[in-house]
Amino acid sequence: MGLSGLEIYKLLPKKNCKECGPPTCLAFAMQLASGKASLDACPYVSDEARAALDAASAPPIKLIKVGREPKVLEIGNETELFRHEKTFYHPTGVAIRVADDLSEEELAGRLEAIKDLAFERVGQRYEVDLVALECRSQDAARFAAAAKAAADRSLSLILISKDPAVMAAALAVVGQDRPLICGADGSNYEEMARLAQEHGCPLVVQGDDLDGVAELAKQVESLGCKDLVIDGTAANTSKTVANLVQFRKLALKKRFRPFGYPALAFATEEDPMAQILQGVSFIAKYAAILVVDAYRKEEVLPLLTWRANLYSDPQKPIQVESKVHEVGDVNADSPVYLTTNFSLTYYSVESEVEASKVPGYILPVNTDGTSVLTAWAAGKYEPEDIAKFIKECGIEEKVNHRNIIIPGQVAVISGRLQEASGWNVLVGPREAAGIPAFVKAHF
Ligand code: SF4
Repeated sequence: MGLSGLEIYKLLPKKNCKECGPPTCLAFAMQLASGKASLDACPYVSDEARAALDAASAPPIKLIKVGREPKVLEIGNETELFRHEKTFYHPTGVAIRVADDLSEEELAGRLEAIKDLAFERVGQRYEVDLVALECRSQDAARFAAAAKAAADRSLSLILISKDPAVMAAALAVVGQDRPLICGADGSNYEEMARLAQEHGCPLVVQGDDLDGVAELAKQVESLGCKDLVIDGTAANTSKTVANLVQFRKLALKKRFRPFGYPALAFATEEDPMAQILQGVSFIAKYAAILVVDAYRKEEVLPLLTWRANLYSDPQKPIQVESKVHEVGDVNADSPVYLTTNFSLTYYSVESEVEASKVPGYILPVNTDGTSVLTAWAAGKYEPEDIAKFIKECGIEEKVNHRNIIIPGQVAVISGRLQEASGWNVLVGPREAAGIPAFVKAHF
């Protein structure tokens, strides 16, 4: 999204003096556009041109960090409207809202439940990123104590209050953990901007409508506060989605700087599952932070799964390492299974090997993350290549037999594989679900 060579050329002095190296200003502009030169090489560039070029080279949506090491949430810095055009880079931060007026036990229980919201799926870990602590007690000390209780559990925070005095009390306790301050509106933005700068925290900007958000973002920026998150929440799902889409479109296509920040959206439905459905829409279009009240595992897992799917690189299927994988307490007699390194395929096989209760080795051939039939059809599951992998992966040192079970869908390669590898090839079931029965019959 940077400037073109011609656009840069228009900002250069046009002296063609060669002092920057290239023979003309235009040639220098072309080098700048492709990132092969630095503007510093031209001694005659004006301050105005430098400012314009610096602004133009800034990312269209700023990268914002919430939280401290080791749990820093990075949001923003997106460059695409549509995931299939390249990829989305920084997964939506999912926050669970908690009110500070819960009893001490209830609060502790809720925070523990949120901390426990982590899932392993197809080799990936999904977890909730933030607690959105809302001050409903109107009691600064109580709000600060609740914030400390979350921080003590290593939970990153969004602090929600419109009252600068309440916010200041919480920041005095957890400000060093870089919580997201939520937020600044027309009534409090000067004090909130001051607090954000004092503690080095990002700040949410909230307006009644898009114009209100843009105007306030400019005001807060002019106070020197540059790490912003813009709130797109409206009265219903479709209006919130429309706001989020406008933020993204205007930031990317028009380089509209007040919207050049990651966006936040609150789920507004009452029912937890309705909130999850709202959340699915907001994550797709284009919330960088989503706040929901739903906190039960069965509510949150679908949301995190959706996020993981959306933020995977469409050009890179999820893969496992192509090496010998051991399932259970294997020994030299354990069966050996062949599969591919596409995660969904691999983990289907792994869970069925586990279910068979007979420990086994799994060899996922590197097929660039494609499933068995796709790999075979694309010429990525050739017996000679598989034989080479079997030789090199180290399985021959781990077992005292030479029997390998191949997926039933590629029974056609069994003869050539046997010849190329010297292993006895057993044609396994067509689907992974058939593994337990297959093992029972053969081992
Ligand atoms: Fe043009 Fe500046 Fe290069 Fe001279 S030094 S040729 S003015 S870009």
